[in-house]
Amino acid sequence: MDIMQKLINRSKDLSEQAKGLGEKARDLTKRSMESTRLKYELAKLEKEMENNMAGLGTLIYQQHRKGEGMEEDIQRLMAASQKLEQEIKNLEEQIANLNPGPALCKGCARELPEGAVYCPNCGSRVVEPIVKEDRPAAAQKEDF
Ligand SMILES: [Zn+2]
Repeated sequence: MDIMQKLINRSKDLSEQAKGLGEKARDLTKRSMESTRLKYELAKLEKEMENNMAGLGTLIYQQHRKGEGMEEDIQRLMAASQKLEQEIKNLEEQIANLNPGPALCKGCARELPEGAVYCPNCGSRVVEPIVKEDRPAAAQKEDF
Protein backbone atom coordinates (compact mmCIF):
# COMPACT_ATOMS: atom_id res chain seq x y z
CA MET A 1 0.00 0.00 0.00
CA ASP A 2 1.59 3.31 -1.02
CA ILE A 3 1.71 6.35 1.20
CA MET A 4 -0.95 8.20 -0.79
CA GLN A 5 -3.42 5.33 -0.35
CA LYS A 6 -2.62 5.26 3.37
CA LEU A 7 -3.33 8.98 3.66
CA ILE A 8 -6.61 8.61 1.79
CA ASN A 9 -7.67 5.69 3.98
CA ARG A 10 -6.73 7.56 7.15
CA SER A 11 -8.68 10.57 6.09
CA LYS A 12 -11.67 8.31 5.33
CA ASP A 13 -11.39 6.69 8.77
CA LEU A 14 -11.28 10.08 10.45
CA SER A 15 -14.30 11.35 8.61
CA GLU A 16 -16.21 8.12 9.34
CA GLN A 17 -15.28 8.46 12.99
CA ALA A 18 -16.36 12.10 13.03
CA LYS A 19 -19.63 11.16 11.32
CA GLY A 20 -20.28 8.59 14.02
CA LEU A 21 -19.67 11.14 16.75
CA GLY A 22 -21.94 13.63 14.99
CA GLU A 23 -24.72 11.06 14.81
CA LYS A 24 -24.27 10.21 18.47
CA ALA A 25 -24.49 13.89 19.40
CA ARG A 26 -27.58 14.33 17.23
CA ASP A 27 -29.19 11.26 18.78
CA LEU A 28 -28.48 12.64 22.26
CA THR A 29 -29.97 15.99 21.27
CA LYS A 30 -33.06 14.27 19.89
CA ARG A 31 -33.48 12.22 23.07
CA SER A 32 -33.01 15.25 25.26
CA MET A 33 -35.56 17.25 23.23
CA GLU A 34 -38.05 14.38 23.41
CA SER A 35 -37.40 14.08 27.13
CA THR A 36 -38.04 17.81 27.61
CA ARG A 37 -41.28 17.55 25.63
CA LEU A 38 -42.48 14.56 27.70
CA LYS A 39 -41.60 16.34 30.94
CA TYR A 40 -43.65 19.31 29.81
CA GLU A 41 -46.60 16.99 29.09
CA LEU A 42 -46.08 15.32 32.45
CA ALA A 43 -46.13 18.66 34.25
CA LYS A 44 -49.43 19.49 32.53
CA LEU A 45 -50.98 16.16 33.57
CA GLU A 46 -49.72 16.56 37.12
CA LYS A 47 -51.30 20.00 37.27
CA GLU A 48 -54.56 18.53 35.99
CA MET A 49 -54.29 15.81 38.61
CA GLU A 50 -53.84 18.47 41.29
CA ASN A 51 -57.00 20.19 40.06
CA ASN A 52 -58.88 16.88 40.12
CA MET A 53 -57.76 16.21 43.67
CA ALA A 54 -58.85 19.69 44.74
CA GLY A 55 -62.18 19.12 42.95
CA LEU A 56 -62.65 15.77 44.68
CA GLY A 57 -61.89 17.38 48.01
CA THR A 58 -64.49 20.06 47.38
CA LEU A 59 -67.12 17.52 46.32
CA ILE A 60 -66.53 15.34 49.36
CA TYR A 61 -66.62 18.38 51.60
CA GLN A 62 -69.93 19.48 50.07
CA GLN A 63 -71.36 15.99 50.35
CA HIS A 64 -70.60 15.83 54.05
CA ARG A 65 -71.70 19.38 54.72
CA LYS A 66 -75.01 19.15 52.88
CA GLY A 67 -75.51 15.56 53.83
CA GLU A 68 -76.59 14.81 50.28
CA GLY A 69 -75.16 12.66 47.48
CA MET A 70 -72.51 14.00 45.18
CA GLU A 71 -71.67 10.41 44.22
CA GLU A 72 -72.16 10.88 40.50
CA ASP A 73 -69.75 13.82 40.34
CA ILE A 74 -67.29 12.07 42.63
CA GLN A 75 -67.39 8.90 40.52
CA ARG A 76 -66.85 10.89 37.35
CA LEU A 77 -63.89 12.75 38.78
CA MET A 78 -62.50 9.54 40.29
CA ALA A 79 -62.61 7.79 36.91
CA ALA A 80 -60.95 10.75 35.17
CA SER A 81 -58.25 10.89 37.83
CA GLN A 82 -57.51 7.19 37.58
CA LYS A 83 -57.10 7.55 33.82
CA LEU A 84 -54.86 10.53 34.43
CA GLU A 85 -52.82 8.54 36.93
CA GLN A 86 -52.21 5.87 34.29
CA GLU A 87 -51.19 8.48 31.72
CA ILE A 88 -48.78 10.02 34.20
CA LYS A 89 -47.28 6.59 34.88
CA ASN A 90 -46.85 5.96 31.15
CA LEU A 91 -45.16 9.32 30.64
CA GLU A 92 -42.83 8.73 33.58
CA GLU A 93 -41.85 5.37 32.08
CA GLN A 94 -41.18 6.94 28.69
CA ILE A 95 -39.03 9.62 30.31
CA ALA A 96 -37.14 7.00 32.32
CA ASN A 97 -36.48 5.04 29.11
CA LEU A 98 -35.04 8.14 27.45
CA ASN A 99 -32.81 8.81 30.45
CA PRO A 100 -31.49 5.41 31.55
CA GLY A 101 -30.53 5.97 35.16
CA PRO A 102 -28.57 8.83 36.68
CA ALA A 103 -25.10 9.35 35.28
CA LEU A 104 -22.20 8.41 37.53
CA CYS A 105 -19.04 10.46 37.94
CA LYS A 106 -16.01 8.78 36.36
CA GLY A 107 -13.84 10.29 39.07
CA CYS A 108 -15.63 9.30 42.26
CA ALA A 109 -18.59 7.14 41.04
CA ARG A 110 -21.16 9.32 42.81
CA GLU A 111 -24.55 9.95 41.20
CA LEU A 112 -24.56 13.18 39.25
CA PRO A 113 -27.40 15.69 39.34
CA GLU A 114 -29.26 16.05 36.03
CA GLY A 115 -27.51 18.35 33.60
CA ALA A 116 -24.33 18.57 35.67
CA VAL A 117 -21.22 19.63 33.76
CA TYR A 118 -18.85 19.20 36.71
CA CYS A 119 -19.15 16.67 39.53
CA PRO A 120 -20.29 18.52 42.67
CA ASN A 121 -18.33 16.04 44.78
CA CYS A 122 -14.88 15.84 43.19
CA GLY A 123 -15.07 18.55 40.55
CA SER A 124 -14.29 16.32 37.55
CA ARG A 125 -15.67 17.46 34.23
CA VAL A 126 -18.48 14.98 33.49
CA VAL A 127 -19.88 16.22 30.20
CA GLU A 128 -17.92 15.57 27.00
CA PRO A 129 -17.30 18.81 25.12
CA ILE A 130 -19.81 19.14 22.30
CA VAL A 131 -18.57 17.63 19.03
CA LYS A 132 -18.34 20.37 16.46
CA GLU A 133 -19.42 19.62 12.91
CA ASP A 134 -16.37 21.40 11.47
CA ARG A 135 -13.88 19.02 13.12
CA PRO A 136 -13.62 16.50 10.24
CA ALA A 137 -12.69 19.28 7.79
CA ALA A 138 -9.94 20.49 10.11
CA ALA A 139 -8.64 16.94 10.60
CA GLN A 140 -8.53 16.32 6.85
CA LYS A 141 -6.60 19.53 6.24
CA GLU A 142 -3.68 18.19 8.33
CA ASP A 143 -3.26 15.30 5.91
CA PHE A 144 -2.44 17.52 2.92
ZN1 LIG B 1 -16.87 13.03 41.10
